[in-house]
Amino acid sequence: MAPREVKQDVSRTVELPDKAVAEAQRVAADVEARLDLLLRDLETWVNVDTPGGAIEELDALAAIMAQAAESYGLHPQLVPVRGRGLYLHATLEGRGVARVALLCHHDTVFPLGTVAERPFSHDGRHVYGPGVADMKGGIALALHAARALASGPRPFGVVELVSASDEETRPAAPLTLERLEGFDAVFCMECGRADGSIVSARKGGRWFRIRATGRPAHAGVDPDAGRNAVLALCQEALRLGALHHARDGLTFQVTQLVGGEGLNTVPGHAYLTGDLRGRTAADLDWAMAQVRAFGSYEGIDLAEEDLGGPPPLERSPEVESLARAAQALGRALDHPFGEASTGGVSDGSWTAWAGIPTLDGLGPVGGDDHTPFEYAELGSFAPRAGVLAGLVAAVDGGLLR
Ligand SMILES: [Zn+2]
Repeated sequence: MAPREVKQDVSRTVELPDKAVAEAQRVAADVEARLDLLLRDLETWVNVDTPGGAIEELDALAAIMAQAAESYGLHPQLVPVRGRGLYLHATLEGRGVARVALLCHHDTVFPLGTVAERPFSHDGRHVYGPGVADMKGGIALALHAARALASGPRPFGVVELVSASDEETRPAAPLTLERLEGFDAVFCMECGRADGSIVSARKGGRWFRIRATGRPAHAGVDPDAGRNAVLALCQEALRLGALHHARDGLTFQVTQLVGGEGLNTVPGHAYLTGDLRGRTAADLDWAMAQVRAFGSYEGIDLAEEDLGGPPPLERSPEVESLARAAQALGRALDHPFGEASTGGVSDGSWTAWAGIPTLDGLGPVGGDDHTPFEYAELGSFAPRAGVLAGLVAAVDGGLLR
């Protein structure tokens, strides 16, 4: 699903520690000067097909990335996750106090064989190839920001680059999430929006199924002996439809409505599925309570089955501080951008759910994810690496305290 986006105008400024701007400028210049190295890594990584579940390929790429991380001064660790391949955790220790994670994933949505058809390429302005924005470009940006951070004053306690092998197919939290317990902030490396915006809010979702059970009967011979499950469920579908826009940002769609046994039978069974999205956990909880407040239909049983769904990334005061700091750093680097909220989901939703202030969309500027036209802007890697480094230093300097 293509996320619908809402722009927010943020004009208020934020106090940045001096060291944050200086570090942002130093790292941006360093990454710019070594852009060839970053592109070489990115080309290597894009040219390994890594669809979810292709464990051999995913692990091969994780090993290649771990080797690069080690050569840049990080301490990589490959963490096996049963049936899902290796997660990469690469740490860099600093001289400060803040613990910050750079959250990535190295699986893509493209099947084996995609690289043979359209390998990594660039035209001087954009880079292309499967996963170039979502999110191998984000990993390259994060790793090269870390490489540059390693050669400076290291204003942080620890920077930990995390790359999951199963983000695109996993309906639950990253499996090594507990390793980030106590972290001060998470920067998620999904690409920036096409206009450069970072992502400071993501909607959460809830999926559910409602089953209606009535009583089948011959529709011509004995219709009144039946209890029509389809009719009851249609009324429920109309009732639930009122949830759409019932609160600011809340959306609801009945996504399936299935029932009946045959042309001349009063239907004894039916089910519907629903897709609910909301900005806050409170809105989603409220809406789910409405979902369960079934009408009563004589002779019909209704039962709800929870199918899960990602939590929202809420624009908390901490997230707002991070977003403002990021934009101030962008302006200082002559790379201004706004912030956006989206209906799409990322692993940043899960770290936010775990209580760690999380800012998303910090990867390169790009777009058309999950399509053959996916791209990232070459000129955005260096300034955004600078923004990332500046954010790390800002958190260490007390931005969130
Ligand atoms: Zn992604």
